[in-house]
This record gives sequence, C-alpha cells and structure tokens, in this order.
Amino acid sequence: MLTEASILEALKSVKYPGYSRDIVSFGLVKHAAAANGGVSVVIELTSPNAEMAAQIKAECERALRALPGVSTVHVDVKAAAGAAPRSAFAQQHQIPGITRVVAVASGKGGVGKSTCSVNLACALAQLGVRVGLLDCDIYGPSIPLMMGVHGRPGVTDTPQGERLLPLENHGVKLMSMGFLLDGDQPVIWRGPMIMKTIQQFVNQVAWGELDMLLVDLPPGTGDAQLSLCQTVPLDGGVIVTTPQEASLGVVRKGIAMFRKVNVPILGIVENMSYFTAPGGERIEIFGHGGGAAEAARQNVTFLGEIPIFTEIREGGDEGLPVTVSNAKGAPAQCFAKIAAILREKLL
Ligand code: ADP
Repeated sequence: MLTEASILEALKSVKYPGYSRDIVSFGLVKHAAAANGGVSVVIELTSPNAEMAAQIKAECERALRALPGVSTVHVDVKAAAGAAPRSAFAQQHQIPGITRVVAVASGKGGVGKSTCSVNLACALAQLGVRVGLLDCDIYGPSIPLMMGVHGRPGVTDTPQGERLLPLENHGVKLMSMGFLLDGDQPVIWRGPMIMKTIQQFVNQVAWGELDMLLVDLPPGTGDAQLSLCQTVPLDGGVIVTTPQEASLGVVRKGIAMFRKVNVPILGIVENMSYFTAPGGERIEIFGHGGGAAEAARQNVTFLGEIPIFTEIREGGDEGLPVTVSNAKGAPAQCFAKIAAILREKLL
C-alpha cells in the first residue's frame, strides 16, 4: 500500500547533491501523495540551481519508480524564489539576446494551437514584453495569415554568418516556414529533411533582444516534435487542447513529450471550451472542463479556458488578432489572463 510514509521512506535514499544527508532530513519535501498507483511529490529547494534541481528530480523519480505498485510518478522540484531556473540544456544553448523560449504544442491539428500562439504573443506584447513568434508548422503554416504578415524576410550579415530578419506586426517579431515556402505548393517532407530544415531555420534568425520567444510546434506529439523540443533551448511548454481531446488522453502524450526532454510544463489551455448562443444559452460543444481535469490529474497548472467566439476566428482570417482589434473584449481578456500568468512564471 502506497502511503505518504512509504514515499518519504523511499525519498530518504536521495542525497542532497554534495552532502551525505538526504532531502527528507533537510525538510525539502513539501508534499507527498499517492492515489491509484500515481505518486506526486513536491520538493522545494533553497537555491535556484537548475542542474541540482534536475539531478534531484531524476533521483527522486528513480527511487519512487522502484516502489512496488507505482505506475506513474510526478516530481515537481521548485527552485528558490525568483524567476524559474533554466534547464541545463537551455542554459548551455541559450539563443543570444533571448531571455525565455516557450513551446506551444497540441495533440493534433485544428484545436487552435496557432490561434492561441498568435493571440498570446500579441497579448504579451501589449503587456510590454518584447516577444517573438517562431512558426515551425511546416505542414500548414497559418500564422503569417493570422498575423497579417506577408513577404519574404530579408537577410543580414552578422559575425556568426548570414541571418534571416524576422518580419514584424502587432508588436510581435515573426518568423515562419510559410515565408520560405512557395505559395500554394503542397510541401512533401521526409523525416530527416524536416529536422535539418527546422534546425537551420531555428538557429538562423536575427531576433535581436527578446524577453520571450514563442515557438509554435507542428501539431502532434511524435518524433518530429520531440526532436524539435531537443533542438530548441526551451524554458517551458504550453499544451493547447480542446475539452474532448483532453478526455481522450491526448494531453497526457503532450505532457509525456515535454517531460521526456525535461522541459517544464507551464500549463494547459483549454480552447473551444464552450459556445454562448445568441440567446445566452451556453453550449458545450466538445464537453467542458476536460483540460482542467487533466491538468489536476497530471499535477500541472491549468492556465485557462477560451470559449468559441466568432471574433476569434474572424480575427484569424483577417490577420488582425482579436487581442489587437478589441483588447478589452471578453475573447481578448481570456488570452490576456494567460499571457499574464506566463509573464509571471517566466520573467
Ligand atoms: P491549429 O493551429 O491547432 O491547427 P488553428 O489555430 O489553425 O488550429 O485553428 C483552427 C480554426 O479554428 C481556425 O479557423 C481558427 O480561427 C478557429 N479557432 C480556433 N480557436 C477558436 C476559438 N476559441 N473560437 C473560434 N474559432 C477558433
């Protein structure tokens, strides 16, 4: 039987790096719980050392997985107050001039991932955050359209070689595969080619100084997305889902993808949560609350829900995101709230 006591007993095998004492005796374990084979632990460190946090997390996970009857383990290691620490990978591969890099992922296409990326980027810009948006959706890059940006990026010479100059609109610097592909030509990508192209693409943009770069991942949680998460020095990941996708367990795959590459999960956004009919009746087209429920189950933050609003779709089609055209309106405020949480968590 898994109990708090048996979890703590297992965690006593984890030494604080550099000390002979364990993390339990140091009083770092703030929460330990078990239910249905799932174990959840929260550890609070007194230093902001990301490498140490990663090491403790890995050792705790190993110790807990070894317990009989454990099927899933979630270890949340919180660093000392202040901005969240960067992962060791993010520290080593930091893109010069960029403070934070955040990936936006979804289980499949059509759930509104790009819509969320675009509106969150614009909402962040309105909060005074210097923001960039990197559209890695090679299959159907829709972000240039949604941002109302057309044209080919220029090229600039830098000490590191030639770099692409991002285009800009609504206060957001933007680079998209769409700028580099030819019009309506369908693109047929082979696996290795995808990765090579995206890697070059990611590393060859002259962003200048940015507080936050949002990376719109291609839809899905397969190998291509996973390698992208390893290529880009990510500080966190956001998962966009519809309520029904969440209830189908798709979100779990997204969470697993980020966890596999040690990218902190900033939270889940439930898009298309419900629709309010002209008569005021609330219609939950895809069910409602799946995102929040899954976030609670997986012990990650629920960032918020975004109902279906005609203005959101229209804004996308017109290249004028609703966060820009009507920043005070209800649809824009949903995004603004999430943007504020992201800023709070990362900057
Ligand atoms: P994805 O990037 O996940 O493939 P998109 O962002 O392209 O999805 O969204 C798919 C379609 O749904 C677009 O036409 C978009 O305008 C629309 N859409 C997305 N979210 C909403 C919403 N909350 N309300 C209304 N329309 C939405």
